[in-house]
Amino acid sequence: MNRLTDKTALITGGSRGIGEAIALRLAREGANIAVCASQSTEAAEVVAEKIREQGREAIVRQTDVSNAESVEALVKTVLDTWGKIDILVNNAGITRDNLLMRMKEDEWDAVLGVNLKGAYHCIKAVIRPMMKARTGRIINVSSVVGLTGNAGQINYAASKSGLIGLTKSVARELASRNITANAIAPGFIPTDMTAKLNDKIQEQLIAQIPLGKLGSPDDVAAATAFLASDDAAYITGQVLVVDGGMVM
Ligand code: NAP
Repeated sequence: MNRLTDKTALITGGSRGIGEAIALRLAREGANIAVCASQSTEAAEVVAEKIREQGREAIVRQTDVSNAESVEALVKTVLDTWGKIDILVNNAGITRDNLLMRMKEDEWDAVLGVNLKGAYHCIKAVIRPMMKARTGRIINVSSVVGLTGNAGQINYAASKSGLIGLTKSVARELASRNITANAIAPGFIPTDMTAKLNDKIQEQLIAQIPLGKLGSPDDVAAATAFLASDDAAYITGQVLVVDGGMVM
């Protein structure tokens, strides 16, 4: 499918895992792609090279989404290069898991800073050009944990629930400008983020999934491509859960 021909997409945290899959999928559908990462820019360059091999253009910029100036510089680079941003995917995310009793303030701040404040910075930086263009797609990568909560992840769950409130508020504020905002809530997707979960925990998780298997980054990428496309033109303020039926 070529649903995103000549679109420009900015994907935060596109160096690996779900963000890489989203970048490659949107490129396959015709979009030029900007990716960022705070550290793994070499890996992001490899992703960019794969995009160029598909005949699309790609930009990599080292960016810490929790830092407003860093995000503004990223968005300026994209606008200087392509003159527009049609699609923003707030995918960058981190975990700093701990039980509430032991959770340190810096663990709370780090996770909220990247996962929630990072999305705020990115949305704020792109909406002016989107409003001018009277079109835009904002897609925030939340999590099923933002819907259910999770012991040991109060910071992460709060950030992912916060993203849902942010998504719905942005959807309401910007609908009149033809900008949609939706969230995706993935279930359990094997990536670097989940690599520390041992086999036993993974088996327990699979037992809770009606479709009987873990998801893949490509499953999340397919949902993102749909929400970014004209096929989703009349969908805004929604949470699309991609979890094999785990939460329903
Ligand atoms: P991952 O493999 O750890 O990748 C995270 C990406 O975010 C990397 O590219 C990382 O690059 C980037 N990143 C981290 N901090 C950043 C910062 N301050 N500024 C810019 N980029 C930053 O994680 P993943 O599993 O693909 O997760 C992607 C998203 O899906 C996250 O929002 C996560 O919460 C969400 N999610 C994942 C799952 C799952 O099961 N895997 C489930 C639900 C939701 P650097 O480290 O180089 O900065």
